[in-house]
Amino acid sequence: MGRPAIIHKTAADLAVPPHLADYAATCRAFSWDAARRELAGLPGGGLNIAFEAVDRHAQGARADHVAFRFLGSQAQRDISYRELSRLTNRFANVLKTLGVQRGERVFVLTGRIPELYTAVLGSFKNGCVVSPLFSAFGPEPLATRLKLGEGAVLVTTEGLYEHKVAKIRQQLPALRHVLLVGDEGQPTNLPDTHDLARLMAQAPDAFDIVATQAEDPALLHFTSGTTGTPKGALHVHGAVVTHWATGRYTLDLHADDIFWCTADPGWVTGTSYGIIAPLLHGVTSIVDEAEFDAERWWRILHEQQVSVWYTAPTAIRMLMKAGAELARKYSYPRLRFVASVGEPLNPEAVWWGLDVLGKPIHDNWWQTETGGIMIANLPALDIKPGSMGLPLPGVEAAIVRQHADGPVEVLDQPGREGELALKRGWPSMLRGYLNNEERYRKCFAGDWYLTGDLARRDADGYYWFVGRLDDVIKSAGHLIGPFEVESALMEHPAVAEAGVIGKPDALVGEVVKAFVSLKEGFEPSEALRMELLGHARKKLGAAVAPKEIDFLATLPRTRSGKIMRRLLKARELGLPEGDTSTLEAGA
Ligand code: ATP
Ligand code: MG
Repeated sequence: MGRPAIIHKTAADLAVPPHLADYAATCRAFSWDAARRELAGLPGGGLNIAFEAVDRHAQGARADHVAFRFLGSQAQRDISYRELSRLTNRFANVLKTLGVQRGERVFVLTGRIPELYTAVLGSFKNGCVVSPLFSAFGPEPLATRLKLGEGAVLVTTEGLYEHKVAKIRQQLPALRHVLLVGDEGQPTNLPDTHDLARLMAQAPDAFDIVATQAEDPALLHFTSGTTGTPKGALHVHGAVVTHWATGRYTLDLHADDIFWCTADPGWVTGTSYGIIAPLLHGVTSIVDEAEFDAERWWRILHEQQVSVWYTAPTAIRMLMKAGAELARKYSYPRLRFVASVGEPLNPEAVWWGLDVLGKPIHDNWWQTETGGIMIANLPALDIKPGSMGLPLPGVEAAIVRQHADGPVEVLDQPGREGELALKRGWPSMLRGYLNNEERYRKCFAGDWYLTGDLARRDADGYYWFVGRLDDVIKSAGHLIGPFEVESALMEHPAVAEAGVIGKPDALVGEVVKAFVSLKEGFEPSEALRMELLGHARKKLGAAVAPKEIDFLATLPRTRSGKIMRRLLKARELGLPEGDTSTLEAGA
């Protein structure tokens, strides 16, 4: 489409966070220890995420600043830092009164309602390990996670309990307490449960935060299950240093920002950036309790005057699918910075941001295991659309090749493709996979943490995602990353989404096969199929372009919004679908 390969930042952009104007100098000057010193630490010694996120502000000039604005289906509710401090103290007291000990696990299964946020932060205060669960999970995936995590406490709603948890309660001997949020704010009295509102009303306002240390466990987060059975990644209180640094360096949070992270706390993005990082910077976060709706989202950006927006490629593609006219019904004059994570962001989407929002979208990369953003198109640096960006200050990344369980070889030359690796030791690095020591050990080789993603680095140090190791296609001696093919297809005006797999072929090993869904106003036809095949061949060359294209109404996705290529492949080949516990309903 004749778009340039770089979006240059202007002097005005560079003036926003002066600390990143000189990337190399910032990296040299940065240290995690220095970032740690930006945090307060517990008054009596120790480190606790909730104190840094809530109480530090509640005791200062920002006490009455809005921490969370909840957008319910009808009403809107604001909670200030002072109020959040009081509520989380009360929740911590509820746990303490019930005899819940430091280190025990508290699972939270609700929609994005205030009680979820209070429970997560209140559990940190009591020294408990929190595991937020996505509320749309069915009884089976819930049972698996609660069992694996030996949840001692579950916070959920009356409706979710009756429909999902009651059925599996017998299988959960470790679960001592179920705290229920009554439907529509009414008291509840189901057998073997507590009414959370009643306990909260009786609990004292003051609580002495348990003196957790940086290495004490804080969070258990399950991965998305894109490549197989979800893994339970354990994180510690010290991860808060990464949350603080990334909130500053990659999301550019300033105290007067209105921030909206669209991820659900059931996924790591919704916790690290939907709860912790914005609070650390004392900003106001918007929480939308409703499900995705294109017009509603545009209205929220407009009405709430969102200034920093953190979303995901799947949402961006759905907004693109809904059309630019809808976006143009509203205006977004306060929007300053837009970022995306979760999947590769096609260059087309970056440009769309510039056209429709007046802001390009900054892609960034990380995983449940990394606990926080590791590689990003940083706020004040040039964007390369299609690239994940540069490693954060303090993060050392490399492209490596592992030799059969032996040492890794670092591929220094720009342009080489290999596995993306990170030098171990950043504060939010996972400390284990729950009950899976062997899988955890396999993540490391020497000093390196191996990500399972394939990438390459260019001469300017920018990293480019190629695909997951599992998804790479081998065709007639070429290694083909699905992302490149999907991005080329998305440049065609008819294509809303594309998922690409390798289909076994006797002659060339694998042939590239694409599945596409179409934008509003386009219908599948033989003519369009031929046109797309031709378009891809022109963009990619015959060796890389798909040989087959199928139309699908939607692509199968995880509930965190990732295209499940392994499922496309299993279905294509008539193989068992494997673990589908995180598959989006109806996909
Ligand atoms: P599982 O590990 O269970 O298969 P998952 O890897 O999808 O699931 P997450 O931790 O939620 O679980 O996702 C991290 C992965 O998402 C990364 O390893 C990468 O493959 C992909 N990803 C995230 N952000 C980006 C990005 N900006 N560009 C490309 N890929 C990304
Ligand atoms: Mg993964």
